[in-house]
Amino acid sequence: MAQDTLSKLRAAVRDVPDFPKAGIIFKDITPILKDGALFRSSVDIFLHQLRNKRIDKIVGIDARGFLFGSAVAYELGIGFVPLRKKGRLPYRTESARYSLEYGEAEMELHIDAIERGEKIVLIDDLLATGGTSASAATLIEKVGGDLIEAIFLIELEFLHGREKLKPTPVTSFLKY
Ligand code: AMP
Repeated sequence: MAQDTLSKLRAAVRDVPDFPKAGIIFKDITPILKDGALFRSSVDIFLHQLRNKRIDKIVGIDARGFLFGSAVAYELGIGFVPLRKKGRLPYRTESARYSLEYGEAEMELHIDAIERGEKIVLIDDLLATGGTSASAATLIEKVGGDLIEAIFLIELEFLHGREKLKPTPVTSFLKY
């Protein structure tokens, strides 16, 4: 992917200090989403990473992972599975608790969302401590999926989140 594209995306990410809590610098991606060309190129960099790979489904993390994940699944012509915060999915679920950079949470996945042995790619906007993605990985494997890769637009490298995802290969495009 062209360096120029990555520079433009990086320039559009807005730092919002002390959101949602004091001491957190929130990486706001809405300036990317509201710009047609930037939104398209942000989805294209995920697609570039996934071209020519055999993937059965994309799992996107609530809520910003849905934005990129569903666009990628649509373009690849494969299924999209939402991994949601507790209490949002209507059918029977598997769940996993985890801790966040700013709090505690529980994620859920429909028990029939993934068939045994399906090749899964996990997508979210940002990798911070890795707690959310690690619980996603646990859930994907619990329902029989084969998590082959996790991809993020942004990675906060100083939080070492990718360690929690081992041995799953992790790709990110904008590193801080
Ligand atoms: P973590 O479990 O710590 O890796 O947190 C990742 C999840 O929380 C992702 O779904 C992100 O969207 C969100 N998140 C965590 N920290 C930030 C941050 N500094 N800016 C924006 N989103 C964040």
